[in-house]
Amino acid sequence: MYNAIICRYHEIAIKGGNRSMFEKRMVENMYYLLRKVHDIRISRVRGRIWIERKDKELFTDEQLEIIDEQLQRAFGLESFSPVIMCEPTMDAMKKAVDVSCRPYFAKAFEAKPVVSFRIRAKRSNKNFELDSRGIEIELAREVGREYDYDSLTINLEEADVTVWCELRCEFAFIYYDIIRGPGGLPVGSNSPVLALLSGGIDSPAACCEIMKRGCRCDFITFHSSPYTPPATVDKVRRIAHHLNLFQPPARLFICNLAPLQKLIRDKCNPRFRTVLYRRMMFRIARAVAVRHKRQALVTGESVGQVASQTIKNMAAIDAAIDMLVLRPLVGTDKNDAIALARRIGTFDMSSEQVPDSCTVFAPSNPATAVVLSKILEDEARIPEYPAMLKEIVENIEILTP
Ligand code: ATP
Ligand code: MG
Repeated sequence: MYNAIICRYHEIAIKGGNRSMFEKRMVENMYYLLRKVHDIRISRVRGRIWIERKDKELFTDEQLEIIDEQLQRAFGLESFSPVIMCEPTMDAMKKAVDVSCRPYFAKAFEAKPVVSFRIRAKRSNKNFELDSRGIEIELAREVGREYDYDSLTINLEEADVTVWCELRCEFAFIYYDIIRGPGGLPVGSNSPVLALLSGGIDSPAACCEIMKRGCRCDFITFHSSPYTPPATVDKVRRIAHHLNLFQPPARLFICNLAPLQKLIRDKCNPRFRTVLYRRMMFRIARAVAVRHKRQALVTGESVGQVASQTIKNMAAIDAAIDMLVLRPLVGTDKNDAIALARRIGTFDMSSEQVPDSCTVFAPSNPATAVVLSKILEDEARIPEYPAMLKEIVENIEILTP
């Protein structure tokens, strides 16, 4: 029964001169996310986005299902509602309520014998014959006609069924549901970034958080073949594929860290390995980011979570490069990161037990408070590392997961 979807987004983010850029990006992303719903038109009308079929017919249930699922992934979207769009006349609005209200009331009556309802009308056409209150009364009468007098009550505060009605000059529309979107800003409205994606729980969640702030995310992952199996990379590829459901598909850069890890194992203090590995990862990621014009790195680090994430170690890792590193989960508890991973659908994949690149040759007692000068002394013992880094960067495999 729905012939349009109305989409609402935050006004705050789109103030001033950037407004049209945000809106255009939002529409572009929605076309991409809804590509499986053929022949639709997405248009911007006064601070709202409308989705309709090109032929103006009703959406099918299957189309509505896809739209419902996909719009949950459209960052920037505050909420949306399937609506019945009609002529801006009282008769047309009554008819629209008449054809659409039954399933909502039927569902409410399943749960209780007496159902409360309310009509909420807004009108922007101030010349209309009735004011908002008048429209509400007329539509309430229409609903009342359908049902037994004793089984309905009106509750303006909290009703089992709310009929929303908006009247504009050119058209009117009726709806019942306000479905929450993911919020945030449309992907692509801020600069693109490169995320260090492991098979863990945190980094996929961090990627989603940063996409939600408008940054399109390319991914880089490090494995240690032959010390880690192909399954290590395959797991990350599947996670990256899933993350690409939230954005126009981005690339996964796959990088073998093993040669550097061997060098570090042979020449450096074993207790510094984790920090040294991480500094190498940052250097490689920075080189890839610069080459592919990504403006910042993203990690899933959270203060204090593991040995490499003490403030001192994070500072030593950070000092390896001169590039902005974004850590969306820096103050997030593990439980909250898990909840986030569950919400975005990566938790189960991340929970699969697969060997991780960081644990290759990892010491049982890693240093938790390194001093940068000591790290630099250790790196001075491996003068061949810059050449090796270069070679590793040249051999990175790129794929669109
Ligand atoms: P995650 O759950 O994201 O793996 P973690 O809590 O296990 O995080 P670490 O293993 O110390 O923490 O990793 C910290 C961050 O470093 C990760 O969130 C990720 O951004 C990056 N990282 C770690 N290992 C890799 C890897 N093999 N490939 C790419 N990035 C990695
Ligand atoms: Mg990890």
